[in-house]
Amino acid sequence: MIITLKRDASQEETERLIHSIEQLGLEMHLISGTSFNVFGVVGDTTILDEKKIYGYSCVQDVCRIAAPYKLANRVFHPSDSVIDVGGVKVGGHEKIVVISGPCSVEDEESLMTSAEAVKKAGADMLRGGAYKPRTSPYAFQGRGEEGLITLQHAKEKFGFPIVTELMSINKIQEFLDHDVDMIQIGARNMQNFDLLKEVGKTNVPVLLKRGLSNTIEEWLMAAEYIMSGGNTNVILCERGIRTFEKYTRNTLDLSVIPIVKERSHLPIVIDPSHATGDRDLVESMSLAAIAAGADGLIIEAHHNPEAAWSDGAQTVTPEQLQQIIAKGKAIAHVIGRSM
Ligand code: PEP
Ligand code: MN
Repeated sequence: MIITLKRDASQEETERLIHSIEQLGLEMHLISGTSFNVFGVVGDTTILDEKKIYGYSCVQDVCRIAAPYKLANRVFHPSDSVIDVGGVKVGGHEKIVVISGPCSVEDEESLMTSAEAVKKAGADMLRGGAYKPRTSPYAFQGRGEEGLITLQHAKEKFGFPIVTELMSINKIQEFLDHDVDMIQIGARNMQNFDLLKEVGKTNVPVLLKRGLSNTIEEWLMAAEYIMSGGNTNVILCERGIRTFEKYTRNTLDLSVIPIVKERSHLPIVIDPSHATGDRDLVESMSLAAIAAGADGLIIEAHHNPEAAWSDGAQTVTPEQLQQIIAKGKAIAHVIGRSM
């Protein structure tokens, strides 16, 4: 970190600044220039808060050189992390995974039919929301614990891991009791720091969606919250961000794949369903994501999308899912991966 002092910085204030930073175990190296004096701060600068440094009236500018995240940073963990989700490995050179299922966990018969269909189409894990974050309080809110029980039945019957969204701290025990293999933190909760801290205390893999209006750095800092609690099993998920564009539900930011891969060792999964809001766009965005280096896809699929209880317009049929996987395998082969 580089701290530039104001021309008229007083000796007294500068000494207070030096003392406050050295007190944290960091070294302050003064470089005297002709116009400005700057300090190079050496040590673990992740513990420093730029805003606090600006609080000293002698400070002109603060420039961070190292990223503010440490555990999620590739610099300190050069090899790719591979996360084991109920026996399915995600990341590194492992096969590209497909997580699929309906938006919401519907009744037992419906979920079982969809689960069997996505399994047959080639999905590696089953998704479905038991607790749903809906824009309207009058919309279907999910079946709650009943939905978790239904998911558990599907896991037992079809033998694949289950992924479902956690919205509240006080439901964590329920998720553990019902053997959820991966906890999804939804876009709207990406910066629910208390929730992040609590899932950080478990050892259950976490699928951390990017917030609707969050930067990559904020997203990696959210991962850091989970990891700093001791749970390093984090998989990032890009699900589209909010822009001015109206022809799609969100704007799929595929550039995050190489950026995240360069800066972090965590696996990244793409959600083309919430990113586009349109089932006709899901295949092309899935293939593009694979080509760009995604470690997996999370795709909403239903045996009868028109009858889906939520997000039907972006939900593909099992036949479409099968086709996406078939084409995806071909792209994966070209980039030296399997699917
Ligand atoms: C979902 O996966 O159904 C969901 C609500 O996702 P997001 O948080 O990305 O909107
Ligand atoms: Mn959905």
